[in-house]
Amino acid sequence: MHENGFTTTILHSDRKQSVEHGAVHKPMHPSSEFAYDDARELAAVFQGKAGFTYARQGTPTTTALEAKVSQMEAGKGTVSFATGMAALAAIFTTLLRRGDHLVSSQFVFGNTNSLFGTLQELGVEITFVDATDSSQVRAAIRPNTRMVFTETIANPGTQVADLAVIGEICREKGLVYVVDNTLTSPWMFRPASVGASLVMNSLSKYIGGHGNALGGAVTDTGLYDWSGYENIYEAYRKGPATGWGLTQIKKKGLRDMGGTLAAEPAHRIAVGAETLALRMAKHCANALALARFLEEHPGVAKVHYPGLASHPQHARAAALFGSRFGGLLGVELADGVDCFDFLNRLRVVLMATHLGDTRSLALPAAHTIYYEMGAERRKQMGIADSLIRVSVGIEDEADLLFDFDQALTGCLKG
Ligand SMILES: *Cc1c(COP(=O)(O)O)cnc(C)c1O
Repeated sequence: MHENGFTTTILHSDRKQSVEHGAVHKPMHPSSEFAYDDARELAAVFQGKAGFTYARQGTPTTTALEAKVSQMEAGKGTVSFATGMAALAAIFTTLLRRGDHLVSSQFVFGNTNSLFGTLQELGVEITFVDATDSSQVRAAIRPNTRMVFTETIANPGTQVADLAVIGEICREKGLVYVVDNTLTSPWMFRPASVGASLVMNSLSKYIGGHGNALGGAVTDTGLYDWSGYENIYEAYRKGPATGWGLTQIKKKGLRDMGGTLAAEPAHRIAVGAETLALRMAKHCANALALARFLEEHPGVAKVHYPGLASHPQHARAAALFGSRFGGLLGVELADGVDCFDFLNRLRVVLMATHLGDTRSLALPAAHTIYYEMGAERRKQMGIADSLIRVSVGIEDEADLLFDFDQALTGCLKG
């Protein structure tokens, strides 16, 4: 039987779920509460029947977006959140308890690193390992280990974790395998293919894609058997065990903690997602061209990009991501090129935090997003003082190369 591809599926997702009046978009539902003609019906929805009660637990608009993310990830179910951080916080705080042990990649998003500090204060034990080397993950596992966490391509060093072997280790040991797929997006990579249990995506980045909405999502791949996971509350041990983890994340993480995605950003993200495949292909093509150009440039000491043959995990990235390498570069400037001087000379590229926007963005990583953690932890994470993080947009390639060249050449001439 013919199955529709990535973009066709997203474009026709709302329509296939019988939208009111034949609209091709699910309409925005800003209603806070949902009323019923029959009180028994209201009670039934509270007791588990599909439906809506109070918008903190979701709306038809977020449900429509969640269906799209599930399709993109080929997952069994998705819960959306107000931001990617809310989604990550929900995973860790609802599934881990005091005394549990988590093994995490040491190369993680700065705010995730900070969140881990909070978890440690609450009594969760965390071991950070170099996840590009799966033997370090295996060696870190203890009797109380419950979960392994990694990103796909790390930011800004672009390290590529040994995702497939870590998946095998987690299956063998019965551990929950959580993968942050933000840098790759489900167009480049589906973590389910390496045995991930839960996939987190920041919808604020490539999926929404236009720098006009924040959101996050947790997708259950259906690969983990939650019946053996001790931390699931009795109330959520109902129905097939493959759904228990996500039910707990939704009840505890969304309903009780309240990091709910509102209807308007959910709608913007859903529209953005329609062109994910087109944008992502251009992000990848521009980033590869820019990485090759900068690697040869006298103003640059080193370029971190998985698409370059010089990248330590180039072959792994090619195998995992179908020879597509994403839109993020780490650029270490040559001695004598001041990072602030360089950034100030850029004309097309914006000096801004954020990534995955249609516009190219750059920032001095050590002095901004990784400032708070201090020099020692930066060194451990491989973040040099002159490192520029570049989120390559979808501008015309020649304009990006020209802009970087004129800024670097200007610095070299002093
Ligand atoms: C941005 C980002 C997040 C957090 O997402 P927000 O939507 O900004 O909260 C988490 N992980 C990675 C890898 C990110 O790049």
